Amino acid sequence: MKRFVYADNAATTQISDEVFSAMEYWLKEGYGNPSSIYAKGRDAGHAIEDARKSVAAALGAQPAEIFFVGCGSEADNWAIKGTAHKLAAKGKKHIITTTFEHHAVLHTCAALEKEGFEITYLPVDEKGLITAQQVADAIRPDTALVTIMYANNEIGTIQPIPEIGKICREKGVWFHTDAVQAVGNVPINVVEQKIDMLSMSGHKIHAPKGVGVLYIKKGIVLPNLIDGGGQERGRRAGTENVASIVGLGRAIEIACSNLPEKNERVRAMRDRIIDALLEIPMARLNGDREHRLAGNINISFPGVEGEALLLSLDLQGICASSGSACTSGSLDPSHVLLAIGLSHEVAHGSLRISINDWTTDEDTDHIIASVPPIIEKLRSMSPMWEHIMKGELVLA
Ligand code: PLP
Repeated sequence: MKRFVYADNAATTQISDEVFSAMEYWLKEGYGNPSSIYAKGRDAGHAIEDARKSVAAALGAQPAEIFFVGCGSEADNWAIKGTAHKLAAKGKKHIITTTFEHHAVLHTCAALEKEGFEITYLPVDEKGLITAQQVADAIRPDTALVTIMYANNEIGTIQPIPEIGKICREKGVWFHTDAVQAVGNVPINVVEQKIDMLSMSGHKIHAPKGVGVLYIKKGIVLPNLIDGGGQERGRRAGTENVASIVGLGRAIEIACSNLPEKNERVRAMRDRIIDALLEIPMARLNGDREHRLAGNINISFPGVEGEALLLSLDLQGICASSGSACTSGSLDPSHVLLAIGLSHEVAHGSLRISINDWTTDEDTDHIIASVPPIIEKLRSMSPMWEHIMKGELVLA
């Protein structure tokens, strides 16, 4: 039987059995409205509050600072637009971000630009990192917000979040981080790391799709995201998605337990894959090797089309990605790979493999055995590879 290897965990993850069983009751039996006064409703309300405590504990926050939302994109939108609209009244209409954020941040900033806000897009270096000094230099008296992702979804690079947090706190500027790829993979403590707002999403940590969190530090009051009933302390109205919230609460407990041990194992598999694939002629690793998520592998193979590579891997039972999940389906080269200086040609031939603690050594072996012959075959049919070999196409 063909081996199936799911190596696209940065795109989404499978719901775990523990999460599913934690949710099951709330999907079927525990259908009471959490706002209702009778026991069936109150029970659902308590389940939400338990999940809130689990999320708060995992992030080092207080339960009252945790707001359940529909997804990571929603959390990003609320943090950024909410801050912008709140602080514009005080004359603060400047936002600092980076060029390689997720589109949930970049497109939100672009929308604010149309409203007259000014956005500074900090460039990332060729390894996919920014420095706290870049942030310090960009802060102005009218800066409302610094929003910088914790870990990049394509190349897995981890930014110096505690240092950035420190600078923002010293300068009195609110700091939001999109931690959708980091939660459950990197130890996070919002107090120690001086994070004012943090976005996360359930479906990256074996909880269902359609549930996320925005952490908002006590003392910060953003405009309501959805006006209506009193849910989420009146800030995000709408009858709660009880089962998914319970699932997220259980998922974050599991994801954050034994993190160092899990990461050590995942890192060893990641390094084995990176070392093996870098043996392929002209392969290059995208993103810093050290400041990198334990499960992220992103390698470019010049002379290869990413889409053809993904389809060939699919035939071998391997699910991977050639860019971010949100941009697959479009042939535009990834903005992240362009931001770290890759040419369009090289960016097109990139492969993201995202593994996690569900990945086995046998899965790793299958990836290592499958990729090199596929690259060789695709290059043997590629006019671009021929040009590269003849020196007619010089790659950046
Ligand atoms: N931010 C990052 C870094 C992501 O990787 C993603 C999803 O891939 C999102 C935001 C959006 O999260 P969601 O799919 O929950 O809206």
